[in-house]
Amino acid sequence: MAKDLFVIAEQRDGHIQKVSLELLGEATKLAKELGESVVGVILGDNIKDKAQELIEHGAEKVIVIEDPMLKEYVTEPYAKALTAMIKEYDPNIVLFGATSIGRDIAPRVAARVHTGLTADCTRLDVDMNEYFDYLHVASNADTKAIEAKLGMDDKTLKMTRPAFGGNVMATIRCADYRPQMATVRPGVMKKLDVIEGATGVVEEFKVEFTPEDMNVTIREVVKATHKAVDITEAKVLVSGGRGIGSPEFFGTLQEVADLIEGAEISSSRANVDAGWIARDRQVGQTGKTVRPELYIANGISGAIQHLAGMENSECIIAINKNDTAAIFEVSDLGIVGDVKVIIPKLIDALKAYHEAND
Ligand SMILES: Cc1cc2nc3c(=O)[nH]c(=O)nc-3n(C[C@H](O)[C@H](O)[C@H](O)COP(=O)(O)OP(=O)(O)OC[C@H]3O[C@@H](n4cnc5c(N)ncnc54)[C@H](O)[C@@H]3O)c2cc1C
Repeated sequence: MAKDLFVIAEQRDGHIQKVSLELLGEATKLAKELGESVVGVILGDNIKDKAQELIEHGAEKVIVIEDPMLKEYVTEPYAKALTAMIKEYDPNIVLFGATSIGRDIAPRVAARVHTGLTADCTRLDVDMNEYFDYLHVASNADTKAIEAKLGMDDKTLKMTRPAFGGNVMATIRCADYRPQMATVRPGVMKKLDVIEGATGVVEEFKVEFTPEDMNVTIREVVKATHKAVDITEAKVLVSGGRGIGSPEFFGTLQEVADLIEGAEISSSRANVDAGWIARDRQVGQTGKTVRPELYIANGISGAIQHLAGMENSECIIAINKNDTAAIFEVSDLGIVGDVKVIIPKLIDALKAYHEAND
């Protein structure tokens, strides 16, 4: 019988990506509800020493698939290895990060093991009570009808994702086939605190490759010289909404970000649509989901689609001149006032702080 939750850990140049650690955190929660175990899977060449990092983030067992063929990510050998691994271990659930690699490999593997895949999930549930708690707050779904169909003991994976351009949230189940597979957006789930010195089982899984499995020739690996900014990785986000009034004010917000370690600027969709800032900085339902230690919302009203992308930030400070703005409902600290007055004062205060302390 299909059993256990498998997290396919993504590594780039030997660095495990944050989304994989987040998935281990979520898998740990779901595993408790299911009474099953969390298994990390890592592929690469000479990668076995990374297994411990997965164990310290919640994996009880790690399956290592090593081969020179897996040194760089190439779809075909990775798909072959994962397909063979799934057929051998028969997992109940398999989770991937919804990164460019996860989005490439997951559907291919799902097709080969003949199961479904829900892409780009923002929420996963097993327990029906928890799922209903979410539905009661976030929707007007008829939970009585769902209960009549599934029963409260249902333990299938309820995979929720934005659909129709973010206008509705859809929950998808894979009732008849195993494994239940999903890709999950980076930044949505919470990783566990590191369990230093945690112990777990490390197992090697061998895949027999033939030269034909490598259907592309890697002639050169060129790293992008301009590093794209990933706002999901920032510790602090200084975010601008329509209330900042002009694209130039992003320069002022950048000054704030430059004065705070690990800070980046981000935006509501209004300014992205206006062409004031690049789309990869957009926070929200149709942008990125972020969970920084500090989110400073400047002139952002707090529309539901924006909140969906940032309300799980650890601390939220909002500056808005309208004291009834919805953003204040999710804020830890609300400042009623004009960003153009407050932000220059914040810059002066941060500079004074650095002069006194650096
Ligand atoms: C399907 C769909 C998907 C969407 N996806 C997203 C998404 O991913 N992300 C997203 O952000 N939005 C998204 N939206 C849009 C969303 O509904 C809002 O329109 C948008 O978030 C509003 O952006 P805003 O808060 O910057 O602007 P506004 O709603 O115009 O708010 C501006 C705020 O600034 C305040 N303000 C004005 N001047 C000042 C000043 N000088 N100082 C201080 N405060 C000031 C105002 O009081 C107001 O509260 C989506 C909408 C739809 C329909």
